[in-house]
Amino acid sequence: MTVPSVAPSPGSSTPDALSPYTRMVAAGRGDGSPSSPVNPPITMTSTYRGQGTFSPGDHVYARSSNPSWEPFEEVLAGLEGADVPAVLFSSGMAAISAAVQVCAPEGSRLVVPQVAYNTSVALFDDLESRGRYRVDRIDFTDTDTVVAALGEDGDRPAASLIWLESPSNPMLEVLDLPRILEAARAAGTTSVADNTFATPLGARPLSRGADVVVHSVTKFLAGHSDVVLGAVVPSTAALREELVGHRTMHGAIAGPFEAWLALRGVRTLGVRFDRAQANAAELARRLHDLPTGVGVRYPGLPDDPHHALAVRDLDGFGAIVTLDLGDAAVADRVVEATRLWVPATSLGGVESLLERRRRHAVEPAVVPEGLIRLSVGIEDVEDLWSDLSRAIEVARGEV
Ligand SMILES: *Cc1c(COP(=O)(O)O)cnc(C)c1O
Repeated sequence: MTVPSVAPSPGSSTPDALSPYTRMVAAGRGDGSPSSPVNPPITMTSTYRGQGTFSPGDHVYARSSNPSWEPFEEVLAGLEGADVPAVLFSSGMAAISAAVQVCAPEGSRLVVPQVAYNTSVALFDDLESRGRYRVDRIDFTDTDTVVAALGEDGDRPAASLIWLESPSNPMLEVLDLPRILEAARAAGTTSVADNTFATPLGARPLSRGADVVVHSVTKFLAGHSDVVLGAVVPSTAALREELVGHRTMHGAIAGPFEAWLALRGVRTLGVRFDRAQANAAELARRLHDLPTGVGVRYPGLPDDPHHALAVRDLDGFGAIVTLDLGDAAVADRVVEATRLWVPATSLGGVESLLERRRRHAVEPAVVPEGLIRLSVGIEDVEDLWSDLSRAIEVARGEV
């Protein structure tokens, strides 16, 4: 019998041929030596024994490195098709902040979407108001405008960085990534893709030419709403070195136990995501078919404005659905009336969550007041449907 070699030194001998469903289970299990644990231990230490000179790869101090981070970093890199390990951070926002600061020199120009994860949008606003970057906000569904915004133009310097989120949070816009990434490359603009919504099962932006991928590991990757973590997946060893240096200096490191929880979570990403995605597709179809229509958005619906791009570029339509009740009060009543769905922010856990997004003051104003974001979990779809459809009837005074 041949055992797939999944060595702990990432990129060295992990066979490309392994399916992601196998990789997420098999990678990051150490060197396979006799008596070694099947699951990597949690290393609770702040420092490591040593004296005299350092050898490459030595662990010295636990802000710089912790063996507890490595298995997850290896698994995620494998899933994203990266040649170097991912870099784990204390949260998705820590990862995003590090990616921006490492990829874009102070004073340079960033091209960012008008709608994206609200705290990413807030971060770009904050960096601009502190005078650290020039920020151009574009409607990213208009690919021509995005492409035109990248290069040098008169006094305008080429953009140093373009921020990509596809599908976007919460508007579920699917971007024309191949065209945008090609234009970014031509303009010398570093491209960073937040792949939290798609997960590596739905999209692998590095394989399309993106320079960097970021994740809120908090969401689908860890998958149980019990941990806050983030990761950057760089495409080159040079970028990785800079990101690790940034993490060591700025100190936004992952706790060893959190890293272990994320590893445990990502082992089941395949079965969780497939199930959540199937539930989401079914719920989107039923919501769409309600006689008194609510505005439903799901890239898998044939009449969704982003369906064609999603079919072309994604390997799945994801587990997030939005409905627009047209009115904040009605939307609030839907959220209130559910019993099984959990009213909470966040997404990507095994349990289904729902939230009216504009309850957050930082949510971009282009998101409709009555929009509810559904993060569809892995429960029985009939139970999810009866709870949600009843809540919609209650909220509209139909029962
Ligand atoms: C949640 C989220 C983030 C932020 O991640 P945290 O782990 O909460 O810091 C970034 N991007 C997207 C798309 C998200 O959904």
